[in-house]
Amino acid sequence: MNIILLGPPGAGKGTQAAKIVEKFHVVHISTGDIFRKNISENTPLGQKVKQYTEKGLLVPDEITVAMVKDRLSQPDCKAGYMLDGFPRTIPQAESLEVMGEKVDCALNIDCDYALLIDRISGRRMCKECGASYHIKNSPSKEEGKCDKCGGELYQRDDDNEQTVKARLAEYDEKTLPLTEFYKAKGLLLQVDGNGSIEQTTENVYKALTSFI
Ligand code: AMP
Repeated sequence: MNIILLGPPGAGKGTQAAKIVEKFHVVHISTGDIFRKNISENTPLGQKVKQYTEKGLLVPDEITVAMVKDRLSQPDCKAGYMLDGFPRTIPQAESLEVMGEKVDCALNIDCDYALLIDRISGRRMCKECGASYHIKNSPSKEEGKCDKCGGELYQRDDDNEQTVKARLAEYDEKTLPLTEFYKAKGLLLQVDGNGSIEQTTENVYKALTSFI
């Protein structure tokens, strides 16, 4: 099964992606995670994309598409994958089709904008394993330390209020039209992401199970 995960920044895509992987055993491909890893390792790709990510802007399609094409060509993707954070534009979605990739469903986690800023500003990530926490809604047991691997928790550079506003504007203009794109193909699954993490996971599991 090949799944696309859609939703605005802060809707809980990363958190729900981990739950989906647990239950459906698909390979998790997060373009944001791949960019962050390259930036922190100062690779040529990281040097190219940093100027966009730090401003909350989308990385140009040709860079992103080439990276995803390379990742999808790896053997572990043959058994099924979940794309988290890709596609983010209509041309990216079209490029997946050109690559011959079959999308089984596009799961959109819907969330009121009023909730997003609070969720993003309280978000903390593990430097080692990428696990996601929230200082109020889902804190780690020990402050600043990952429950899963003991790694140090940090706040993403692009989770500050000004950059979040730019990311939401990019989402509205370039990514939101993808819901109509996949709806027209009969592939869109809508999930309510306004509730707790557990409620959203239940909605996600229900939608995916009814679909399989
Ligand atoms: P995310 O972790 O998905 O919120 O992504 C963090 C940042 O990486 C975004 O704000 C963009 O700058 C960049 N990015 C991630 N995925 C894409 C994509 N599919 N297209 C363009 N830029 C992306």
